[in-house]
Amino acid sequence: MCRHLAYLGPPLTLRELLFDPPHSLLRQSWAPRDMRGSGTINADGFGVGWYPDGGAPVRYRRAQPIWSDPTIADLAAVTASGAVLAAVRSATVGMAVVDAAAAPFAEGRWLFSHNGVVRGWPDSVVPLAAALPVRDLLTLDATTDSALLWALVRDRLRAGAPPARAVAETVTSVAAAAPGSRLNLLLTDGHTVVASVAGHALSVRATPTSVLLASEPHDDDPGWREVPDGHLVTATATEVRQHALAAP
Ligand code: GLN
Repeated sequence: MCRHLAYLGPPLTLRELLFDPPHSLLRQSWAPRDMRGSGTINADGFGVGWYPDGGAPVRYRRAQPIWSDPTIADLAAVTASGAVLAAVRSATVGMAVVDAAAAPFAEGRWLFSHNGVVRGWPDSVVPLAAALPVRDLLTLDATTDSALLWALVRDRLRAGAPPARAVAETVTSVAAAAPGSRLNLLLTDGHTVVASVAGHALSVRATPTSVLLASEPHDDDPGWREVPDGHLVTATATEVRQHALAAP
């Protein structure tokens, strides 16, 4: 199962966020503490998206272990941003291992990640997929559950839903269609981040000027707080809110 994180706050280098902490995303790629389901390590790809000077996001994603790519290490040392979303991937058995299957998925200002699995894939969610424009199905990033979840969230965002509603409705409808799914989603536009906690762990560390959400705390700072299952977190750099998923 994948591990992901989102950060909003004063600019940090990608190295400070992804590589330097004692239990960094890099370390979580080969020694995660909390893997549920079938995965053991997160070696099937990784991706990071950031917002240069507050502009539209830039992404770098690859279908190889984060530890085996010298480019990301070099890039991370010289790239700083006040808004970052990153993930390391453990592909669900049978799902494509290609660059475009790694989070973040993106459109406009949005960056998106999924940690988990849709049970009964793909049959369980055919009725939900059938409600999407055919064009979206023909242009999915990859033939994976995560890419379809992004298409479902994006469809709601395009229709004008606020991000918290787009995430909550997607989680609720997919959970109903595919019981037992694990649906930890992360969505940001660089100012706000929305995260669902549904089947996997998520921890939050907030300071007066920053917020970091991560599948696993990346250090032993006492400020980390685990979000209970079945909740939605909505955060800016200065405010964190939490609601039960059924009532966002
Ligand atoms: N089902 C997702 C995929 O195959 C897996 C994400 C995860 O949490 N491992 O990409």
